[in-house]
Amino acid sequence: MFPKPKIVISKCFFEPVRYDGGIISEPFVENLKKYIESVTFCPEIALGLKVPRPRILIVKIKESERLIQPETGKDLTEDMLKVCQKALAEFKEIDGFLLKAKSPSCGVKSTKLYQNEKIIGKTSGFFARLASETYPYLPLEDEGRLKDFKIRDHFLIRIFAFAEWREFLKDPSPSKLVNFHSRHKYLLMSYNQEFLKKLGQIVASSQYSFQEKLSLYEKYFYRAFQRKTTIRRHINTLQHIFGHISKKLTSKEKRHFFELLEKLKKGWIELSTLLELLKSWALRFEKEYFLFQSYLEPYPAELIKDPE
Ligand code: SF4
Repeated sequence: MFPKPKIVISKCFFEPVRYDGGIISEPFVENLKKYIESVTFCPEIALGLKVPRPRILIVKIKESERLIQPETGKDLTEDMLKVCQKALAEFKEIDGFLLKAKSPSCGVKSTKLYQNEKIIGKTSGFFARLASETYPYLPLEDEGRLKDFKIRDHFLIRIFAFAEWREFLKDPSPSKLVNFHSRHKYLLMSYNQEFLKKLGQIVASSQYSFQEKLSLYEKYFYRAFQRKTTIRRHINTLQHIFGHISKKLTSKEKRHFFELLEKLKKGWIELSTLLELLKSWALRFEKEYFLFQSYLEPYPAELIKDPE
């Protein structure tokens, strides 16, 4: 059972608040809604704009990006910044942001940037940009970017790991911290060996009070997942797990494992093939420690593909 990540999500995935009165229906987001606690927010409605409303655009004027409503000639930049800052200061215990692509408020590097009525490139919406500056260690994506498997996988891993951390914080104890760290050992290894080591030292150290340990652990745990992982790091992690099981395997099974690793390296098969194989061996040899690892199933499997 996965704890529900608390996600700030563009309101137009739930209600018809778009400038044209539309509502967005997107298969991945629809599927995800069951697994998260949604904190819906629409920066443009919070700004006092109505539905329907004239479009707003991001326009480069001199060296600055401004939020302009061409039909009325209004520059909404300062008001939008105030509204977003206020909302961002009020969000509590959130695990990430899922925003609407291409919007001048919500888009994540996907919003058209204009200058002299011409498109000159892409930028991020005002809310998206301020959110990523306010919460630099939280995942922040729009639904367009989440169509990419690697971006989606990285997003899901982080929101579910962070939700588990928040769940742990509801009733923390030193032994539960050891347990939490053990459960995420291989997931952390697949991201960042250095942070895995650092986090292990924090857990084992006698130099900090428990409260100090919690705040330090949180700081490094969130940072550990900032950079996307690579196949090379996955292969290293898979080999570590394999090393604990391999003694019980036949030579044909071992060979099969290394053949699959080669195929993974070449991009011919998915990581999940190796994870399922390791899981089946952990079940067969009753290796509870590995079955307990978040690395083997970091989020609900059905989320990686859009429903048919
Ligand atoms: S994209 Fe953002 S600003 Fe636009 S309607 Fe949706 S929530 Fe509101």
